[in-house]
Amino acid sequence: MKLHEFQAKALFREAGLPVPRGRAAATADDAAAAFTELGAALGVVKAQIHAGGRGKAGGVKLVRSAAEAKGVADALLGKPLVTKQTGPGGTIVRRLLVEEGLPLDKEFYAAVLLDRRLEAPILMASSQGGMDIEEVAEKDPNAIVRETIDARAGLHGFQARRMAFRLGFPKALVNKAAAVLQGLVRVFLDRDASLVEVNPLVTTKDGRVVCLDGKVVIDDNALYRQTAVAGMRDVDEEDPTERRAKDAGLSYIKLDGNIGCLVNGAGLAMATMDLVKLHGGEPANFLDVGGGATTEQVTNAFQIILEDPAVKGILVNIFGGILRCDVLAEGVIAATKAVGLKVPLVVRLEGTNVDKGRELLRNSGLAIVPATDLTDAAKKIVEAVS
Ligand code: GDP
Ligand code: MN
Repeated sequence: MKLHEFQAKALFREAGLPVPRGRAAATADDAAAAFTELGAALGVVKAQIHAGGRGKAGGVKLVRSAAEAKGVADALLGKPLVTKQTGPGGTIVRRLLVEEGLPLDKEFYAAVLLDRRLEAPILMASSQGGMDIEEVAEKDPNAIVRETIDARAGLHGFQARRMAFRLGFPKALVNKAAAVLQGLVRVFLDRDASLVEVNPLVTTKDGRVVCLDGKVVIDDNALYRQTAVAGMRDVDEEDPTERRAKDAGLSYIKLDGNIGCLVNGAGLAMATMDLVKLHGGEPANFLDVGGGATTEQVTNAFQIILEDPAVKGILVNIFGGILRCDVLAEGVIAATKAVGLKVPLVVRLEGTNVDKGRELLRNSGLAIVPATDLTDAAKKIVEAVS
């Protein structure tokens, strides 16, 4: 789950990390009021969307009066902001962060993330702040420094100081920078994050080290115990279908093809997609209803696939272990009653109560193409949509 910058900064502040003073605002008048509250000569108005690249896209503006803050807010709010991370349609700006403007000296990059090869979190930083880390990695890989993190102890003091020195922080600021790096690792560990990124992490002309931006992604599997953070979820930023699937307890990922797939078990779903591709088709989605799906979940899953206009045919591949085949059949029938079935449907059922399941489908009046095995199912659905 992604957090907005203002939410990430609230977590930083709570952890004792230095962030600019400021607050979120959802209207232009409130943005003006937020600027006045700062009592600062210079303010920054920042669009809050789940995407970076806002600076270059006009989503981060310096302002010098409440009237100017209001003008910038009016221009941003309610309209899509297109950055290189949003896709061509952009994302509607519903909220702003209004902060004091700081006298920046140098910009750095710092991130805590999982290194799957090392099977450990790492701290990754560079002195090329403000730039995309991917760009730095390509042009100047030696500019990126890394420390492996002991997930139980956090970032050790010596590691934090070593990194601050290697990044070239001025001597007088090394201890402050080291404390910030340790704090970012603390946030990552304490909040079950999969990413904590600060770009830029800055030094100011008055000798401070400040997190000027903040991107935090929380591991969805930890939300049950991260209740404070779970409340920060912004459904407006989520794909509506993926949100609905998540709420129904389904693993659903939209893909580019035209064959809707409903499968139980992630491994079987992957194998099904492989076979569809092997026989010349393109899956429209990954959908795992899980091992112990209920009729309601199957209904939801089938509806999600049926409502996708890109879907030209559906392949149901169920191996009934814990999920009984008759439960699956009931779900398919209920969903088609609710939404209507206008595309070919190939079903491969095997396992617990398979006879009952097949009978239910046979007597349902639905035009179902039965398949004997996986390859047969894949061939039949590819043929049906081509
Ligand atoms: P992003 O483009 O979405 O990553 O948004 P950022 O929060 O990183 O802001 C983009 C850029 O705006 C930063 O790299 C800074 O150069 C600039 N910026 C943001 N806040 C301030 C500020 O308080 N003072 C000054 N001078 N520049 C700022
Ligand atoms: Mn940034």
